[in-house]
Amino acid sequence: MKIVMLGAPGAGKGTQAKMIASKYQIPHISTGDIFRANIKNGTELGKKAKSYMDQGLLVPDELTVDLVIDRLANDDCKNGYILDGFPRTIPQAEALDAALAKLGEKMDYAIDVDVPDENIVSRMSGRRACTGCGATYHIVYNPSKKGDCCEVCGEKLILRDDDKPETVQKRLNVYHEQTQPLIDYYTKQGILKAVDGTQDMNDVFTAITNILGA
Ligand code: ADP
Ligand code: ADP
Ligand code: ZN
Repeated sequence: MKIVMLGAPGAGKGTQAKMIASKYQIPHISTGDIFRANIKNGTELGKKAKSYMDQGLLVPDELTVDLVIDRLANDDCKNGYILDGFPRTIPQAEALDAALAKLGEKMDYAIDVDVPDENIVSRMSGRRACTGCGATYHIVYNPSKKGDCCEVCGEKLILRDDDKPETVQKRLNVYHEQTQPLIDYYTKQGILKAVDGTQDMNDVFTAITNILGA
């Protein structure tokens, strides 16, 4: 099963993608996590990506597409995968479709986690991300049982620089301009499924599993 998660920054894509990956035993591939790992390790890619991410802008397609297409060739992807944060532009979606077509494959589902802009800023300012394993929490909706530390790996939780309100507004604008057109793109392919992302996270998950089937 091959799934794309769509939705504004902070809509809950990562939260749901992790739950789906665990239920259906497929890898969760997050481009944001890949870029942050590269930043942490001080790679060339990380240095380039950081300058865009800090400004709330998208990393250019040239730095993003090959990275993902290569990742999908890994053995663990042979039974499917869930893409979280990719594609984010029409050219990325087209490149992904072209790579799949070469293998005689296609995407199965594009799940749009729908949350209005009004809810996003509070979601983001309350988000806490683990510096060790990338797990995410929310100070109100999903607090860590270990306070400032990660339940999974024990590392420190932080407010991401790009989750501060000034940058969030910019990321929302970028989302509407460059990513939202993908809703149309996948609707035309007949694989778009929208879920109400303002519900409790477990209810969002139930809505998604109803779409994907047991
Ligand atoms: P969120 O889930 O909050 O939207 P992500 O962790 O997915 O954030 O992404 C963080 C940042 O990484 C984005 O704001 C963008 O700069 C960059 N990024 C992630 N995925 C992509 C992509 N597919 N194309 C371009 N930039 C990306
Ligand atoms: P995305 O990957 O789309 O940027 P996340 O999954 O990281 O979004 O979620 C953004 C923030 O909102 C996190 O702090 C997360 O714990 C919280 N969150 C996710 N889903 C919900 C929900 N249904 N209700 C309330 N808060 C949520
Ligand atoms: Zn952790």
